[in-house]
Amino acid sequence: MSLGCDFSVLEELISNAKKIQDNVLDKILKTNANTEYLHRFLEGSSDKELFRKNVPVVSYEDVKPYIDRVANGEPSDIISGEPITTFNRSSGTSSGNQKIYPTNNIYFENLLFGYALSSVVMSKHVDGYKQGKMMIFRFTHQISPTPCGLPIAPALTSFTKSKYYSRMAKNSTSPYVVALCPDPKQSMYCQLLCGLVQRDEVVSVGTTFPSVLVQIVHFLENYWKELSSNIRSGHVSDWITDLSCRDSVSIILGEPNAELADLIEKECRQESWQGIITRLWPKTKCIETIVTGTMSQHIPALDYYSNKLPLVSKVYASSEAFYGLNLNPLSKPQHVSYTFLPNMSYFEFIHVDADGEATSEIVDLVDVKLGDYYEPLVTNYSGLHRCKVGDILQVTGFYNNTPQFRFVRRKNTVLCVDVEPTTEEDISKALARATVVLESSDLILTGFTCYGDISTVPGHYVFYVELKAKVNNGTNVLQLDNKVLVECCCVMEESLSSLYRRLRGDEGSIGALEIRVVQKGTFDSLMEFFVSRGSSISQYKTPICIKSAEALQVLEDKVLARFFSDRSPTL
Ligand code: AMP
Repeated sequence: MSLGCDFSVLEELISNAKKIQDNVLDKILKTNANTEYLHRFLEGSSDKELFRKNVPVVSYEDVKPYIDRVANGEPSDIISGEPITTFNRSSGTSSGNQKIYPTNNIYFENLLFGYALSSVVMSKHVDGYKQGKMMIFRFTHQISPTPCGLPIAPALTSFTKSKYYSRMAKNSTSPYVVALCPDPKQSMYCQLLCGLVQRDEVVSVGTTFPSVLVQIVHFLENYWKELSSNIRSGHVSDWITDLSCRDSVSIILGEPNAELADLIEKECRQESWQGIITRLWPKTKCIETIVTGTMSQHIPALDYYSNKLPLVSKVYASSEAFYGLNLNPLSKPQHVSYTFLPNMSYFEFIHVDADGEATSEIVDLVDVKLGDYYEPLVTNYSGLHRCKVGDILQVTGFYNNTPQFRFVRRKNTVLCVDVEPTTEEDISKALARATVVLESSDLILTGFTCYGDISTVPGHYVFYVELKAKVNNGTNVLQLDNKVLVECCCVMEESLSSLYRRLRGDEGSIGALEIRVVQKGTFDSLMEFFVSRGSSISQYKTPICIKSAEALQVLEDKVLARFFSDRSPTL
């Protein structure tokens, strides 16, 4: 997909970041100066200095009443000079609260532009990328209306269903209509079938976020016999009843192909599924899925299934705005930085200290300092003004004048059972330590989340993990070694903050960390639970920490065994 973009467009943008950001703000203010919201602070002026002085920094909750009024049928110009045409429902899975963001075509044009540029970057770094096919799994959801009849859906659903997306879908292994299928199971099956039939052309495999890719491999474990039988007979299974899917996939399936069916069966029948992606799709050069931030928990499983192909985190985006691109797509996940695109929205940055506490300084995109931490603020073309994004980023460098950021974590503390603020990043680090112990015992982590259990005295951390043996012992029963799992608990505690270790040790106000191993497929059930509550499959990210009692019940019902750390961490 080039869509008229080439590298010079990118160079041009990032060489003129300051001017472009200035123009973006100018345009937004001129369009929105007379909205009810901005008029309160600017009295009709579109002066940029006045904007920075008078317009407050807000979080979603502050502007929610305005957004809700538009969703309920009042005119768009309460918040936006450009008409609001859609609402993006953000994933919001950890808290269980879903937010809706007003949006319009400029957001979708930005997504298209951002993805097109990232495709240019990919072609530059991955040989043969443009010539091959992408097996990128996409799913869409039902679009439900707001009370005033405007569509409300996850951003990726609205985008995939929009006229913009069809231009992107060209070199995909699956026909566009398959992504539009309302039944995720039929859609997943058909996307796999199309991918298998075209296995020799696939250069890239992916999903936006990795939980879904891990689930797709599990789905393949359950369905490979049926998929190969479809290929052997040249007939799509009868339960694929969505007619658009059926017709378009039947054309791709073509004539019976016993040779391909044999090959798939030979690979899938093997006891170990290590490298299954590269075995089934031998020309795959990379896995395209975002593994920065909380998604890093999926790296061990993806490394295992892909035999350590490069994991490519291409873009950083959200329901509010498209932020930036990874200009070094083949870099290791821990070294990934995103270069902000200055034409997407107007970005400001609240300076925060290493603990995530805001200082009073707010700076423009080009004024951030190397090594410092910031929370971005978005002012976009659809009614958000100086709105906090809730992510913490660190400046890692500059490309021409444009800063590059490492995604550090979501802002809020995610675990706390006493007074210790344990962040996502702390948890990711602890998990990475546990993963090393598990791998040395030939176990792969395929699912993970946690919660702070304060029903015990003292409270303690509970980590739910789903594990898979590297080699199937023939019984499908997971052998759990007490020593290994207890060691995992201990190394996790060792890597948590000094305050955690003190409270756990000397002060005894935190209890021993617990690992609960859950049955195979539990994290697929968790995803199904969230999807049944309105989360989008394409945008689904396994929550790093769970607060909803119902979601916890999904996990609790499937606990196989419990392990506790058996010593206090060192101070
Ligand atoms: P949503 O609005 O549901 O799409 O969620 C957006 C959030 O997902 C962002 O604010 C980030 O917290 C997270 N996110 C999106 N892209 C990335 C990325 N490349 N790396 C890490 N986290 C990301």
